Amino acid sequence: MSNRAKIEEHPVAKVRAAADIAHRSFAGPIGCVFVVAILLASTPLYRDHPVATGLFVAAMLARLAPRLVLAVLWRRRPEPPRFPPWAIASSAYLLSLPTGLFGAFIIGLYGFLSWNAFLIVLFALSCAISGASVTAPHLKLVLAFQITLLLPIVVNCFRAGGDHATMAGLSMTLFLVYVIIHSIRLNADYWNSVAADLALKERAEQLQAARLAADVASQAKSEFLAKMSHEIRTPMNGVLGMLELVLDTGLSGEQREYLGYARQSAHSLLTLLNDLLDHSKAESGKLVLEQIDFSIHALVGEAVTPFLVQAAAKGLNLTCTVREGVPEYLRGDPTRVRQVAVNLVSNAIKFTPSGSITFSVAMDGLVDGRTVLHFQVADTGPGIPEEKQQGIFEAFSQGDNSITRRFGGSGLGLAICRDLVSLMGGRIWVESEPGRGSTFHFTARFAAPSMAAPAERPAVLSPGVPDARPLRILVAEDNLINQKLLTRLLAKAGHEFEVAANGEAACSLWDGNRFDLVLMDVQMPVMDGLEATRRIRAAEASNGCRIPIVGVTAGASSGELEACIDSGMDACITKPIMIADLDNLLAGVSRGHAG
Ligand code: ADP
Repeated sequence: MSNRAKIEEHPVAKVRAAADIAHRSFAGPIGCVFVVAILLASTPLYRDHPVATGLFVAAMLARLAPRLVLAVLWRRRPEPPRFPPWAIASSAYLLSLPTGLFGAFIIGLYGFLSWNAFLIVLFALSCAISGASVTAPHLKLVLAFQITLLLPIVVNCFRAGGDHATMAGLSMTLFLVYVIIHSIRLNADYWNSVAADLALKERAEQLQAARLAADVASQAKSEFLAKMSHEIRTPMNGVLGMLELVLDTGLSGEQREYLGYARQSAHSLLTLLNDLLDHSKAESGKLVLEQIDFSIHALVGEAVTPFLVQAAAKGLNLTCTVREGVPEYLRGDPTRVRQVAVNLVSNAIKFTPSGSITFSVAMDGLVDGRTVLHFQVADTGPGIPEEKQQGIFEAFSQGDNSITRRFGGSGLGLAICRDLVSLMGGRIWVESEPGRGSTFHFTARFAAPSMAAPAERPAVLSPGVPDARPLRILVAEDNLINQKLLTRLLAKAGHEFEVAANGEAACSLWDGNRFDLVLMDVQMPVMDGLEATRRIRAAEASNGCRIPIVGVTAGASSGELEACIDSGMDACITKPIMIADLDNLLAGVSRGHAG
């Protein structure tokens, strides 16, 4: 089957062609009524030949009636009505046959040079022209239409004889040939445009399907990344913890140096993992912001203080300002605001060889009752060329390759900043001139605090006290390395412990007052830490005691922390476990409370 035939057989094209013919032939029958009226009013045809004229008039009116019905249907339906091919063909022949035969009849009776013949020939010619485009979608129909319309007239012109009639016969023959060629062309044009239209629609459908597939793939990728980086945090906990343990033993200077590098690399890897986790969560729409009261002054201090030593070592002047008008307390996600600020300040320090870095916060206004703050980090570094300024906010994109090679980095920092800032209802941008430094801006919206003074986060890590007493600790942890790490740390601090490899084992080891504390890993096989905690709390309800349970989790999101607290845990520490955090926690418990 040829391409053209395939298109003509395409169900959509078939319906469309039928509807097109019907739609185009809509005005024609109404025109016929006018011609009939003129014919009847200006010629003696009806008086002289009532049967032939009556049949012609009846045929014209017969075409009009279904059209009027269609006109009403058309208005009421959202979709154009469908026409069976026989209906279209009979409507066309109901015009061409009576007109051709009646024209031939008139020429035969009155000769070509009569008003009667002139009127009917004029009508036939205009029907031929309009019929060519109206029935263009259907080649056989349009050819049959032209031949039945014009051939009887042509034949009778020649039969009438005489110079004028013969010339008229020749002209009409030429016209018939022209109109046939014209109809064939219009038919080809029609189907070419249908083919182009169908191809376009098919392409659009393919693109839509490809887009859907890409969305699904991207979602799967984000979920995979989120899961993997979450999973990798657990062994990283082991690596970092063991390094801490080894570094705490007697080592030669050389060994200490090498292990120091290993610890530095492990920390970099962890930062990269955290960035990947954040970015993939943001991409899959799973990054949820916390809503707690916080002090903006404290936040600015916390964001800048860790960099003071580093800045001083490079001879950089690092200052921060909270401008007048910025409220002391706001409600939002201080951890995420700090994360963006820390990223920008750390980049500024990384890329600036000399000069100064200023971090400032100012009021930007109020939108829908929410405070909009404008944060700025300005440096006197190398600056960023204008053509690179947009790209640096894309994931894994870095500005100047030579600079990047010198300083390292993954190109994820600014992409995460952009994700976080947009979650906070703000935007991030940079103003920079090569050689004169850069100023990174971001805005964020915050609600008014719910209380006069901010509440603390649910997770609790108590300040350490020197006189900690030895504790009996139940460690629920499935990962062997992490078990070793935790138990070594506990043994070093003089505590006793028992280890359970999953939540169910932890529940069976727990029996009332035997332990002072449970360190409960959250994700474990057989029974997870949340379920085990719920069971212990339920059992405690009957005997009236309450053991402190501290969750150990690889995920640090507010949702995960909340799930821990909801299950009945008293606090959470996140992996990788820092020795200082654990010491503080245990000291707090040994004083008689978990936080
Ligand atoms: P990374 O720092 O890990 O490469 P970022 O997303 O934080 O990734 O930054 C992307 C790029 O933007 C950097 O590689 C650097 O080219 C450019 N950049 C960011 N901050 C600065 C700055 N303060 N001065 C000059 N260039 C910067």
